[in-house]
Amino acid sequence: EENADHVMSLIRSIPGFPKEGIIFRDFMPVLADARGLSILMDALEAALPVPADQFDAVAGLEARGFLFGPALAARLGKGFVAVRKAGKLPPETVHEDYALEYGTASIEIETSAVKPGDRVLVVDDLIATGGTAKAAADLIEKCGGTVVGFSFVMELEGLSGTDVLAGYPLSTLVTMP
Ligand code: 5GP
Repeated sequence: EENADHVMSLIRSIPGFPKEGIIFRDFMPVLADARGLSILMDALEAALPVPADQFDAVAGLEARGFLFGPALAARLGKGFVAVRKAGKLPPETVHEDYALEYGTASIEIETSAVKPGDRVLVVDDLIATGGTAKAAADLIEKCGGTVVGFSFVMELEGLSGTDVLAGYPLSTLVTMP
């Protein structure tokens, strides 16, 4: 409880960023704080949506999923798969387009990073609409991998992001209005 309060006190809320009407939730100060980072990593490990023996790799979403995904993977004795914005990875890549509130976005992984039969946990800092996380799952499944579940640090309330991921085990550490 005291630990949860400490982490919550470090999450910064920035109204009007990156555009008007949005309250941006920033967990970078949690990472910058030695105690906060240690609590965060312990909490992610304790709240895994499925036991660690049920997956082979952790996939992190660019960019904030790269900040703690590899650390979580190393703790669990797993490999890390980088899910990147399109155009950053050398060939061969697998590509997925998805809808944003306005327009579309594209993400990629290296084809060799996920092999048929690989069981993958997907991590990111925050789930809002769930569109990014769903696209990452589609990408992993295109390679023949299985998505065993999702771990998020934060969830934005009222955006039905978790509905989009219905059917997948999911864990979030904190829910934000
Ligand atoms: P979604 O696809 O679920 O709508 O949006 C989630 C993606 O956008 C995540 O990759 C997340 O990092 C980013 N994102 C959206 N809103 C916020 C926010 O308020 N704070 C942070 N840190 N990331 C956000």
